[in-house]
Amino acid sequence: MSARILVVDDIEANVRLLEAKLNVEYYDVSVAYDGPSALKAAAETHPDIILLDVMMPGMDGFEVCRRLKADASTRHIPVVLVTALDGRQDRLTGLKAGADDFLTKPIDDVALFARVRSLTRLKLVIDELRQREASGRRIGVIEGVAARLGGSGGRIVVADDQERQARRIMDELAVEHRPVIETDADRALLAVRARADLLIVNIAASGFDGLRLAAQLRSDEATRHVPILAVFDPSERARALKALEIGVNDLIAKPIDPEELAARARTLIRQKRYTDFLRNNLDNSLELAVTDPLTGLHNRRYMSGQLSSLVRRATCGGDPVAALLVDIDHFKRINDSFGHDVGDEVLREFAVRLATNVRAIDLPCRAGGEEFVVIMPDTPLEAAERVAERLRLHVSGSPFRVSGVEELLHVTISIGVACTTGEGDTPEALLKRADEAVYEAKAKGRNVVIARAA
Ligand code: GH3
Ligand code: MG
Ligand code: MG
Repeated sequence: MSARILVVDDIEANVRLLEAKLNVEYYDVSVAYDGPSALKAAAETHPDIILLDVMMPGMDGFEVCRRLKADASTRHIPVVLVTALDGRQDRLTGLKAGADDFLTKPIDDVALFARVRSLTRLKLVIDELRQREASGRRIGVIEGVAARLGGSGGRIVVADDQERQARRIMDELAVEHRPVIETDADRALLAVRARADLLIVNIAASGFDGLRLAAQLRSDEATRHVPILAVFDPSERARALKALEIGVNDLIAKPIDPEELAARARTLIRQKRYTDFLRNNLDNSLELAVTDPLTGLHNRRYMSGQLSSLVRRATCGGDPVAALLVDIDHFKRINDSFGHDVGDEVLREFAVRLATNVRAIDLPCRAGGEEFVVIMPDTPLEAAERVAERLRLHVSGSPFRVSGVEELLHVTISIGVACTTGEGDTPEALLKRADEAVYEAKAKGRNVVIARAA
């Protein structure tokens, strides 16, 4: 996988050295010797990656990086800052300036190719997504939002059977993420499938083959996009290079520098969120039909897609997902007494109440007619039942005021609640249980919540 790389450094010897190393690997290299010409070259030639020296007279690397990231036409180009060996403060400043990665001088080959390959892959994904998006203005808006995504609060699986090292990694990551340790490969794979923003794998582990685990992750549809950071033993460079070939995103040498670990984890998670975000948004723009025109809620099609992936996760050991099926009671009577338009008004008003009375993580949808579904990630049955009961009371407790109708309309709802049961459960089975619960609620006289355990 080749790429066009812009190397920026004020010292000619540095430029030549990098250029030579990259040429050997068939990268297409162009060069710039100061900040302003780097900006010009970036805007005109749109390289795939920019390797940017921090210390330059006049405009330094931070300022160049800030300007690249502030400009919509160059924002998506990954920037690797090249800092001094003791460049701790530089790395932090660089992160703030929006840099995507770092290299320290003198530049080590393994590190160089690790960064370059990983960013080439990232750039490829971004370019493909951008190509699928016809409207340039829309992608600007999307990227603006995506650029503000953070890299903290990630779910990180640490696959390592070396206790002391794993402990140290955990302690460092727990400051800003939610890490878990797995000491064998099978369990690690399950944990990543269940849901992870990053896998950190020790490829020098003694009890399992970390490279094999990385390869499995890459070949599995469900985990293909999860970034991998490999911990390697510097005496085993061949293994480190092999890891890159397999598709590991980044490498960190033993003994682990906690701060570097934190910076790399954050960067990988931020990149994942960025591409996930682009992917989701562009997918949506391809299928504009994801919202219900009457209520503005998500429609059944969108709901089905979300539910499938959440149920898949839940059945692979992830957190349970619950569903509420909400049906307005005797809705036909409203139509019959006041007309179809008033019925529509009631549906709209109900949608607002639904959206404002579920939690932020819940996904309210209009499944069709006067039937609504709320998908609730990470939610056990009892918690879902409580939300349903609160919603029911809110609807029955305050009548609807609808334009054009003098009297207040008393509306009630029946709700069926169901939750994933673990392995073997499916979205269809889950919705069927919720549906049966609604049926039972109607039979009981309506205006009730019924939860179906299994
Ligand atoms: P139950 O308590 O058993 O749910 O009775 P119900 O009258 O609510 O249920 P039923 O399924 O018999 O009727 C649903 C009605 O909802 C029939 C249909 O005309 C009406 N409806 C479906 N979609 C819309 C819509 O978009 N707007 C309006 N105004 N009415 C709709
Ligand atoms: Mg109905
Ligand atoms: Mg009904």
